[in-house]
Amino acid sequence: MNTIAENVQAVRARIAQAAARAGRDPAGVRLVAASKMNGPDRVREAVLAGVDACGENRVQEFLEKNGANAYAGSPVHFIGHLQKNKVRFVVGAVDLIHSVDSVELMERIHRQAQALGVVQDVLLEVNIAGEASKSGVSPQDLPVLLEAAASFPGLRVKGLMAIPPMEEKTGENRRYFAGMRQLSVDIRQKKYDNVSMTELSMGMSGDFEEAVEEGATLVRLGTAIFGPRNYGKQEGPRDGFVG
Ligand SMILES: *Cc1c(COP(=O)(O)O)cnc(C)c1O
Repeated sequence: MNTIAENVQAVRARIAQAAARAGRDPAGVRLVAASKMNGPDRVREAVLAGVDACGENRVQEFLEKNGANAYAGSPVHFIGHLQKNKVRFVVGAVDLIHSVDSVELMERIHRQAQALGVVQDVLLEVNIAGEASKSGVSPQDLPVLLEAAASFPGLRVKGLMAIPPMEEKTGENRRYFAGMRQLSVDIRQKKYDNVSMTELSMGMSGDFEEAVEEGATLVRLGTAIFGPRNYGKQEGPRDGFVG
């Protein structure tokens, strides 16, 4: 069994190798520890091991861990589905919201940010595989959100995020990652107001190397850092391990 620190080190090496294969600088890939189901102590361990940011899925978990000072100064990203009635807990409290997928949500974030006098960085979540069960905007509807960004100075669109299907065979998601990269290139050429395409959040424990090869700037890793999640109880095992 490996420690969280050993897992982070191993993951960094794999990111560096994938970046090298694509002729990319590994410094252009930031490691986000997707820490759902892991308590404050394990999150702090990941921060000490040098992850670039902590990712939280659920507002309640974020508030609990933030209250316990789990992030210890590390940037925090909100990566899960954000309900409109929870926007006020997140805006201004996290560095980046990865999962914006409607104009209504953009407007809520904008209004809350303006009330606080801040500008909230966000990514637009794209349902790149067209899965009925997943949140995210379809590539066809994405221009509506991109156009709307100009009317919401309380936020800044910094890029795109995707959660493709779980891979059954290695390499299956590469076409989705390549599709995301192409989307971001096309959007950059169109020069929407209040939209930059500096970030591509894609790649999880099962497929992050493909994502890095296709241009990911943020990979969101849970299992590869913390070990398998134990949905039976709040704290996972003391040591994470790569399954
Ligand atoms: C849980 C989660 C991850 C990490 O998943 P792993 O497969 O454990 O790496 C990444 N992104 C989001 C949005 C998640 O909810």
